[in-house]
Amino acid sequence: MNPLIDIGANLCHESLFKRLEQILERAQQQNVTRMIVTGSDVSSSEQALALTRQYKGILFCTAGIHPHHAGTATEDDLSVISELAYRTEVSAVGETGLDFNRDFSPRPDQESIFERHIELAIATGKPLFLHERDAFSRFYPIIKQYRDDLSNAVVHCFTGEKEALYAYLDLDLHIGITGWLCDERRGQRLLPLISEIPNNRLMIETDAPYLLPRNIRPKPKSRTNEPAFLPWIVEKIAQCTGLSCEQIANQTTATANSFFKLDYHQH
Ligand SMILES: [Zn+2]
Repeated sequence: MNPLIDIGANLCHESLFKRLEQILERAQQQNVTRMIVTGSDVSSSEQALALTRQYKGILFCTAGIHPHHAGTATEDDLSVISELAYRTEVSAVGETGLDFNRDFSPRPDQESIFERHIELAIATGKPLFLHERDAFSRFYPIIKQYRDDLSNAVVHCFTGEKEALYAYLDLDLHIGITGWLCDERRGQRLLPLISEIPNNRLMIETDAPYLLPRNIRPKPKSRTNEPAFLPWIVEKIAQCTGLSCEQIANQTTATANSFFKLDYHQH
């Protein structure tokens, strides 16, 4: 298969970080040649940046504070994220957004931290790596308000309804698809929507160590997801769209390279 890019891998998560060499080796064996390491708080964002320096041209990173951590984020945290976001090695601002599914942080805190990230993306000219879970009604007007000033944004791990998908595509946002699609229970509603996403707006991600694709055969012993399992998501997308895995690999890789400007960040 052609090279694949995993646009969302939480490689700083303890479960992956402690065996990173093996994880990266298995990813290469599956032709997952580039990965964007998700920064979800200050320490993972700093760690992610360090990884991009260690694995130049293979690992890239984002810097941000996940909505789950919005309630505890301090001004100091935000200034560290801001400083990181300006570095040339940092490819995007986020993960940021709203999560009203878990509600781990108070909603007003989530909204204000989200807006701070949007302002940072505008100031740096970098794309946004967005998280929206059960929060479309608030998320949409906020992102819409700033859209004209933003270069690009991807709604990662899209799990929403058709109306949300159309609204995001109307704003010319990109869509990230995870192994959620491969879940025969909760992924059902997503299946018919995949072919609605234009080729040049679709990107793929594992969100490892979360969301192990349920179509992997034979089933792995561990429930820990990793970038090497990305081809199973490609296969599912191929089933949904009628395109070949090769075509999906080509298109999603080209889209990710251009969205995150990976060839530029490599140098
Ligand atoms: Zn997320």
